[in-house]
Amino acid sequence: GPVLAIESSCDETACAILAPDGTCLAQRVVSQDGHADFGGVVPEIAARAHLALLPALVEATLADAGLATTDLAFIAASTGPGLIGGLIVGTSFAKGLALALNIPFVAVNHVEAHALTARLPGIVPDGAPFPYLLLLVSGGHCQCIAVEGVGQYRKLGGTIDDAAGEAFDKVAKMLGLGWPGGPALEKLAQMGNPDAIALPRPLLHRPGCDFSFSGLKTAIAQKLAPYGQAPLPHQFAADLAASFQQAVADVVADRINHALDMMPQARLLVAAGGVAANTTLRARLEDVAHKRGLRFAAPPLRLCTDNAVMVGWAALETWHESAERGLPAPNNTTLRPRPRWPLEDMAQRFEPDQA
Ligand code: ATP
Ligand code: MG
Ligand code: FE
Repeated sequence: GPVLAIESSCDETACAILAPDGTCLAQRVVSQDGHADFGGVVPEIAARAHLALLPALVEATLADAGLATTDLAFIAASTGPGLIGGLIVGTSFAKGLALALNIPFVAVNHVEAHALTARLPGIVPDGAPFPYLLLLVSGGHCQCIAVEGVGQYRKLGGTIDDAAGEAFDKVAKMLGLGWPGGPALEKLAQMGNPDAIALPRPLLHRPGCDFSFSGLKTAIAQKLAPYGQAPLPHQFAADLAASFQQAVADVVADRINHALDMMPQARLLVAAGGVAANTTLRARLEDVAHKRGLRFAAPPLRLCTDNAVMVGWAALETWHESAERGLPAPNNTTLRPRPRWPLEDMAQRFEPDQA
């Protein structure tokens, strides 16, 4: 039977129903709109909104698929990492539903779900065989991950300060572009000259594949300082946006080259997360991959940003992996939501329920 999956780790409330082979039978995503006035996600508002939205969302998704709860084989939810309030809401809802239906609950690591999305049927022609390198660039994450198998992930590097999307959002805010700022900044950059304004390239050519964006943000603040509260000349703003975007692309390309050096067995580079929607960045990543004789793939945008399809898919992969390892079907009702859940720490999900 199908799996019903719930995502509530940040500010997207999402539900999806997938057939056992990964075919999406129905999916809905609500991007909460109560945060824009605050210039960022407010955890308390997000948790309350998840609680208010989930029951009707799940019901509507079931109706879209033409299914009843009694048709479901198991329930999955993101149980971490993320904002703890939202994780508790989604996980409790999913566990409660599984308990009422007497079917298993599968705990999904949200970052793992991003990491496995490229393996959904129809995204990469041959289904993205392991191992591959994942660049996860979103509002909350910026990591290079060696994806070696289901439950087998190695973090090769990550940001030491801001996430990539956070940097885009903060720079967009300085340029007066509203929130979330990534898409608006990209649009403005199209009218600018990426070589017009000299900006730093944090960590460029340094060993490893960590990222840093705060120096770039500070440099932009310094370029803007002379203007005070005065309106920015449009061309200057566009040049600054384009130069920022190019600096980010330069740094990410360099870091990914280092990550690929650390993972010589990779045949495929995958980008995921909202920032992977950025055309300049995508083109650079594609270039890096092709120069090394590797393939490049990025899931369609609706599967790059937070959604429940990826959660259902990660649960299905976990289900199959358990069977392959000769383990009992997973049922993680005793796994509790956790704000941090390192990808290296996936073993207990395959262990029989302690209850
Ligand atoms: P997570 O918990 O996975 O980090 P999130 O909701 O913060 O979740 P996503 O929904 O994956 O992250 O992505 C949102 C981020 O992507 C925002 O920071 C947004 O500015 C950025 N973004 C979206 N489109 C673009 C774009 N075209 N260029 C640059 N950044 C973009
Ligand atoms: Mg979001
Ligand atoms: Fe996410």
